[in-house]
Amino acid sequence: MKVLLSSVFGPYGVDDEYGQASCRMELFHNQVTREQGVFSIRMFHPTFGLHFLAANISAATTVLDFPSEARFVEELRNDYDVVGISFIVPNFERAKRMAKLVRRHAPRAKIVLGGHGTPLPEVDEIPNDGVCRGEGVRWLRSFLGEDPERPITHPILSDSFGGRILGVPVVDHSGHLTPGLGCPNACFFCLTSSFFDHKYIPYLTTGREMFDVCEAVERTLGYRKFYVMDENFLAHPERAYELADLIARNGKNYRFSLFSSAENIKKVGVDFLVRLGVISVWLGVESNLKTFPKNRGVDFASLVRELRDHGILVLTSAILFLEEHDRANIWEDIRETVALEPDLIQFMQLGPAPNTPVYRRFRASGRLIEDVPYAEWHGQGQIWFRHPHFSREESGRILTDAFRYDYDTLGPSLVRMAETVVRGFQNINGSRDPLIVRRRESLRRRAEKFRPFLAAARHHAHNDNARALIERVRATYDEAFGPMSLKQRAQGQVVRAYAAQEARRVAAGRNNYQPPTIVTRYRT
Ligand code: SF4
Repeated sequence: MKVLLSSVFGPYGVDDEYGQASCRMELFHNQVTREQGVFSIRMFHPTFGLHFLAANISAATTVLDFPSEARFVEELRNDYDVVGISFIVPNFERAKRMAKLVRRHAPRAKIVLGGHGTPLPEVDEIPNDGVCRGEGVRWLRSFLGEDPERPITHPILSDSFGGRILGVPVVDHSGHLTPGLGCPNACFFCLTSSFFDHKYIPYLTTGREMFDVCEAVERTLGYRKFYVMDENFLAHPERAYELADLIARNGKNYRFSLFSSAENIKKVGVDFLVRLGVISVWLGVESNLKTFPKNRGVDFASLVRELRDHGILVLTSAILFLEEHDRANIWEDIRETVALEPDLIQFMQLGPAPNTPVYRRFRASGRLIEDVPYAEWHGQGQIWFRHPHFSREESGRILTDAFRYDYDTLGPSLVRMAETVVRGFQNINGSRDPLIVRRRESLRRRAEKFRPFLAAARHHAHNDNARALIERVRATYDEAFGPMSLKQRAQGQVVRAYAAQEARRVAAGRNNYQPPTIVTRYRT
């Protein structure tokens, strides 16, 4: 039995028959730092789900990440029994094209479809022999005639590749962890929650299991930093407490980036996050106009400040074009989100994605605009529903203006992140607890890495706010660590050269990097 699992083909983020320039493959550059020019944070992430599947079936399996159409066809010549295609809603047409290519070039192969595009009502327009909606490991095992209930194996994976900061290729790897899928909070817009039937499906149920995967990643890849792909990791505090305890007892300096709701951060406390080794948190603010149960009673301004004071980077996400938004209050909401002063902000348009409560409601009431192609259903272009106060064109303009307002007001996220790290270093001081001493030392090492970038950043400040931020942060670094060393100054010159080149690229509109094709073979 031979299985091929593929992501959709590129190129990505270009206007063509399959997609739009406003739907890029890089997470941060697509929806967080997209208007920050040369300062935009660049990196790609592998298609984690496919690797998870590959690690958990018995068949010889190839994972094809980011192929071109031609490379996909070439791979089909390897006589596969099953070809799996994973896609999200805006990639519906790409998945359809790929399935047709499978029928033509590998007619013997069975086609299975998975990913967040599968709840689309038209999914069966894509030639297929099986559609996985929801958790995929057990589904694929059953499809292949394997025991669906045997234990889960967590793959040993890098979280990202192709990182660039100010044009400099950076090697700052994290391991990937998926403790579980889905979220029971059932926020009305949330596709991940509805995709898994508003349930949480654990893969790593205890802190011990997580710790064992961390150790395996450290042994195999040498990484001690981890990106935790779990919608609300701290919703299961016992697992986090056990993990923190094992880290302390084993003298490890593991560090984690997490998604968490504010209520769960409040429950465990920011001091615990420092002990656990959390270095960044993705926090769903959603809107300052509407209270979501997960945010009830949370003072976001003080929570964001407290996290940053402890050296924890904060990414807040906000949704625009909610039904409550009108021309006046949408800007109040944007300004309040920016006034929280996080390191990074994601603005997304409300996107009624299939199967979500908002989709069902808008569909029933005729508010979806029927002729918007699925390629435009991604939240960074224009809305695809009738809003009482905004046209589609306005939704695109206001979204762009919101990102620019963030950048113009708070300055480059890169420099805000550098500020958080030095703030943490200065504040977490005086403890004799060996764990806290290690945390502080790791903040110092991270701060050192920022210094050459800060030196180059001043040459690219786009307004007075950015200039003031860069000078303030540089002064704080001087105060905390003394003047830059000769080596750091030399590195600053190198960064400056890269940044100048990158700035020319951005100015010329050549700001869309493509990920390389990555072929990973399991048991072949
Ligand atoms: S808390 Fe986050 S992950 Fe959970 S349903 Fe709400 S938006 Fe989705």
